[in-house]
Amino acid sequence: MQTMRVARLFAPNDLRLVEMPIPELRPRDLLCRVVRCGICGTDCAIYTGEFSGVKSGAVHFPMTLGHEWSGTVAAAGSEVTRFRVGDRVVGDTGVSCGQCTACLLGDWGNCPQAQAVGTVNAWDGAYAEYIVMPERHLFHLPLNVSLDAGAMVEPAATALYAVVRAEVRTGDTVLVHGTGPIGLCAAKLAKLSGASRVIVTGRRESKLQLALSFGADAAIDTTREPLAEAVAGHAAGGVDKIIEASGAVELFADSFGCIRPGGVISVVAFYERPLPEFDIDRLVFSGTTLHAVAGSLGQYPAVLKLMEAGLFDPTLLITAHYPFEDVVQALNDWGAKPEHRVKSMLDLPPETD
Ligand SMILES: [Zn+2]
Ligand SMILES: [Zn+2]
Repeated sequence: MQTMRVARLFAPNDLRLVEMPIPELRPRDLLCRVVRCGICGTDCAIYTGEFSGVKSGAVHFPMTLGHEWSGTVAAAGSEVTRFRVGDRVVGDTGVSCGQCTACLLGDWGNCPQAQAVGTVNAWDGAYAEYIVMPERHLFHLPLNVSLDAGAMVEPAATALYAVVRAEVRTGDTVLVHGTGPIGLCAAKLAKLSGASRVIVTGRRESKLQLALSFGADAAIDTTREPLAEAVAGHAAGGVDKIIEASGAVELFADSFGCIRPGGVISVVAFYERPLPEFDIDRLVFSGTTLHAVAGSLGQYPAVLKLMEAGLFDPTLLITAHYPFEDVVQALNDWGAKPEHRVKSMLDLPPETD
């Protein structure tokens, strides 16, 4: 039996490199060699046990993390038609059943049997030499797009879904909270979607500078300026749209003091704690539309086209590479939250034979 190396998470803070059998392929499955896998904040929160899904029991151990990957096709099931061995690919963050009514309508995000890759109720993720993916959840990486960029498609697609759900239109002024990969990608993608002005908020000078060099028009350091006043300086009467990607409950609450009447807020973060005494009437009177965004449903093709056209290159946000063997170090470094860190990447050697 052929085996592969897997970074298996047996329980919070118990991650070990182990040999596991390479899974059997069903007729429509592909075996993909993982070459890059990004480390997501969710991975770290599952690793430490702080993630709400760990506390609720929605994360089942042992499991394999990793949903931001790129790689090459190593083997294809007998009924696969769109991919060949050697193709460069990226995969969805969810795996659906492919047979229920939602799946047959292409709405696999609402499949009752959907599993999330490497998180809750997990399909085994890409902290491993190989990952299995059904053909319908796999995408070709354009020839001029690197495997590094490929591993950024998932967070970028999640950011784009937040921009889409915020209904960003030509000429809008958009406020983006957060300078992690999602917030920074959302700022750039809001500009590409026609926003006339994008303002990013954050708490770290170096990341706000990165936001400005990655397409934002203005940056607000929330440790130095009161949010509402600073935003009013850029957009009297409030911004048209807000994308909340910081995960700070205070910024969610304060967003209602920054948005114009009838604006739209999309929330694309995990908070791990509730918001006490939220003034619901403020939401009602403002006529704000609120959208929650989890995942990237249907956004991969658009992100891949923007990358292929040279309009969107999130590799600028990759601040560290680690060999796969150093995965525990990479997770611990991430948890230490150094000033400059945005996206850390695990590197695996490409297949040699
Ligand atoms: Zn993620
Ligand atoms: Zn289904």
